[in-house]
Amino acid sequence: MHRRLITPGALAAASLLLAIPASAADYQPGAPGIGDPYYPYYGNGGYDVSHYDLRLKYQPATDELEGTATIRAKATQNLSRFDLDFLLDVSEVRVNGAKAAFAASGQHELEVTPANPLRKGTPLTIVVRYSGVPSSKSAYGFSTWHRTPDGAIAADEPEAAWWWFPSNDHPSDKATYDVSVDVPDGTQAISNGTLQPTSSKHGWTNYTWRQNKPQATYLTTLAIGKFDVTTGKTSNGVPIINAYSKDLGDKDKAARASLERTGEIVDWLTGYLGHYPFNSVGGYVPNTTTGYALETQTRVYYSPRQFANGTNTSVVVHELAHQWYGDSVSLKGWKDIWINEGFARYAQWLWSEHEGKGTTQELADYVYASHAADDAFWTVRPGDPGPDNQFDIAVYDRGALAVQALRNEVGDQAFFAILKGWPKEHAYGNASVADFRAYAEKVSGKPLAALFDTWLFQPSKPAAPAAHSASVAKTSAAVAQPKSWEEIAATNDVHGG
Ligand SMILES: [Zn+2]
Repeated sequence: MHRRLITPGALAAASLLLAIPASAADYQPGAPGIGDPYYPYYGNGGYDVSHYDLRLKYQPATDELEGTATIRAKATQNLSRFDLDFLLDVSEVRVNGAKAAFAASGQHELEVTPANPLRKGTPLTIVVRYSGVPSSKSAYGFSTWHRTPDGAIAADEPEAAWWWFPSNDHPSDKATYDVSVDVPDGTQAISNGTLQPTSSKHGWTNYTWRQNKPQATYLTTLAIGKFDVTTGKTSNGVPIINAYSKDLGDKDKAARASLERTGEIVDWLTGYLGHYPFNSVGGYVPNTTTGYALETQTRVYYSPRQFANGTNTSVVVHELAHQWYGDSVSLKGWKDIWINEGFARYAQWLWSEHEGKGTTQELADYVYASHAADDAFWTVRPGDPGPDNQFDIAVYDRGALAVQALRNEVGDQAFFAILKGWPKEHAYGNASVADFRAYAEKVSGKPLAALFDTWLFQPSKPAAPAAHSASVAKTSAAVAQPKSWEEIAATNDVHGG
């Protein structure tokens, strides 16, 4: 799709490159994509990253970003060359100390040719020096770098990293992070994890953030601007850091009235999902014009628009539920998005019941009843929706309906054991929908192939008998709209990218 055309000149050069000693012949370039059929060029083959150290300097007035990325990785095949995903202008690349050749290719590939080929298993220290104006760069005709009146934001799904750091950009290669940013005095830099001591010199203030648990590239966020920062602790002692743009206008109070309940909501979610998996939690509300929120790890991104009509605790529940379902346990491939969204939406349903605004069963019945059999809603298969429907409303609502069908099939005791056991079973790792089914079958002792097929994989509305046997829509009476419906629907713009 986005493959470069190979010109005759390039072919000649390639032939010359093939004239290498036979002993080096088994060194091959790493693939330009990690192998996700939804996004063939996202991520890369041939190496596995364990840590990103980013040293950045950002000037809000001009959107100029300069940086040095030090990437710790390991070769997973004999490599003659490998790719990083990146859009800014690179001035130097070093691999294990030696200068490497590099060239931009495709939509967002940076091809790196080390001075010496790399044997499988070799530890790699890759240093990339770069600079550029992120807002001037695009791939596939779009940009997800958001400028604000006082800074900029990187927070999007699945694409966010290309505009600010070179990476193996796929959730199946998670790593720890140190993100260090120099910004003009009076401006702040917000990122994931815990804030290390700040310092100021010659008009620039340094903010360094540490994420000590594996984190997907798309969950790595950067916000630069003028913020008011609040701190606190959950009942279990997890430090809370929230940040509010000083420019939120009349949405400021509703944003605070929502995010300042982060500790309460983490405590409540812990009852269903188990021990909170990270050593920091919170969120930030920048002065953007976007509409969505995103579960950026430990520091959730919320658009001010989520608070346009007053408090919105439902969106806080959704994004914090992702810390277990999506962030600690990440998807294996983007087709597994139901693992993230079906459960984050179901957490909103549980919150609705907690708040006395409609039970999960009432919400499930309402979703089932409010979409007729010929509604396109049912053609989306939440278990493998395809890249165009990855964030379709059906992935959320039909996805949560499937969770209720599973609950009714296995019973509350097994269901809540699955809900809490899954994040522990795959903590800090990656898992697929098939893995989830296998786990649910193991815990419940029930075969679930037919149930999963009906609710997640058929491009049609589950028929009444299937619905009745899953205890959905048991009565033929009209189903009333639950009180929480409007509030939950208001969070539907959760992913705008
Ligand atoms: Zn979500």
